[in-house]
Amino acid sequence: MSKKETSCSFCGRPRSQVGLLIAGLSGHICDHCIAQARMIVDEDQTTKTSTQNAPVNVLKPQDIKERLDEYVIGQDDAKKTLSVAVYNHYKRLHQTKIEDVEIEKSNVILVGRTGTGKTLLAKTIAKMLNVPFCIADATVLTEAGYVGEDVESILSRLLQAADYNVQAAQHGIVFIDEIDKIARKSDNPSITRDVSGEGVQQALLKLLEGSTVNVPPQGGRKHPEQKMIAIDTKNILFVCGGAFDGIERIIASRVNRQTIGFGSDITEKVDEDNFLKYITPTDVKSYGLIPELIGRFPVLTYLEPLDAKSLKRIITEPKNAIIKQYIRLFEIDGIRLTFDANVLDFIVEKAIEFKLGARGLRSICEAILTDAMYELPSKNEKDFRVDLEYAKAQFSKSKVARLKVA
Ligand code: ADP
Repeated sequence: MSKKETSCSFCGRPRSQVGLLIAGLSGHICDHCIAQARMIVDEDQTTKTSTQNAPVNVLKPQDIKERLDEYVIGQDDAKKTLSVAVYNHYKRLHQTKIEDVEIEKSNVILVGRTGTGKTLLAKTIAKMLNVPFCIADATVLTEAGYVGEDVESILSRLLQAADYNVQAAQHGIVFIDEIDKIARKSDNPSITRDVSGEGVQQALLKLLEGSTVNVPPQGGRKHPEQKMIAIDTKNILFVCGGAFDGIERIIASRVNRQTIGFGSDITEKVDEDNFLKYITPTDVKSYGLIPELIGRFPVLTYLEPLDAKSLKRIITEPKNAIIKQYIRLFEIDGIRLTFDANVLDFIVEKAIEFKLGARGLRSICEAILTDAMYELPSKNEKDFRVDLEYAKAQFSKSKVARLKVA
């Protein structure tokens, strides 16, 4: 009887059918299986680096704040709080083994008027950490089964932002805008269900509780046949933003009660121009967010309204400041664009006058520069100086100027 041909102990292929067969103590492995094993090892290492080792490189809170300073003007309190929250969040991710002290997630609520930098803060942090980031609008969410979007659609967006890499999405940052719009309509107890208020808050809890959620990869309900993808939300950082219109009154009455009350230990003079800085979870609860939801957002901070000085810094200072962007745009055409100092003051003045805040700065600049951007590329000019007279003339004939309500 002929001796049996040696074969690979993994796939069983005989020596004659493989290129190489390496002998071990009690078996053999062929070149095919070596290549396959290599792929498995590589894949495992990439997952490990992206999920476990990455947080090691996470910046320290002071470094995070410094980076935020490059893009976001002012808002020091919010930046500091957010830097610590993000740092702790990623420290928590780094906890590999089960330890006796389990660090809880540091989801954040940012309270501040529209256009003060809430989205910008969250977006800048995500970019800095190189994690998937998505923005969801709380106003379009409804309780499952009602017209509108299910809360799961938020995760579909995150998954899309992560290029369908589930691992990456599970470490991403979700920014939920206008969270104040789903406040419980407490003073208006209606018999109909509050599907866009408390109902949504309840539905959101499911995402925040750190559970596995089945997500339709394409989002929405239009594709009922799509296969669901399971996403574990345990390590997703949720940042909510809202203007909470009128919350100052709630804060003011609480602060005043406390300062007047017996045994009050508040000796500091209350800053009546900025009640937001005294915000506490109690105020958010009085506003209409349910306690269970507030409990899932241990970090609460505020953004200050932007004054003329801050607005002027916003158009000139950040790394990608609007003025810098226009200068670059003209530079590409070989034109040196300059602004007289009083033009910048004019832009800021108009943004305040039209109550457009930081959001309006770009539309005002656009109104002033559109004609120049249209005409100059076809001309042979090397310099373009915007003076106050030109700025005023361009602005007054623009659509933005017509926005003003008398
Ligand atoms: P919101 O608070 O409503 O989320 P955003 O962060 O979307 O406001 O701000 C709108 C735009 O205004 C930003 O894209 C940015 O250009 C500008 N902006 C607002 N606040 C700041 C700030 N503090 N520093 C720099 N730019 C800002």
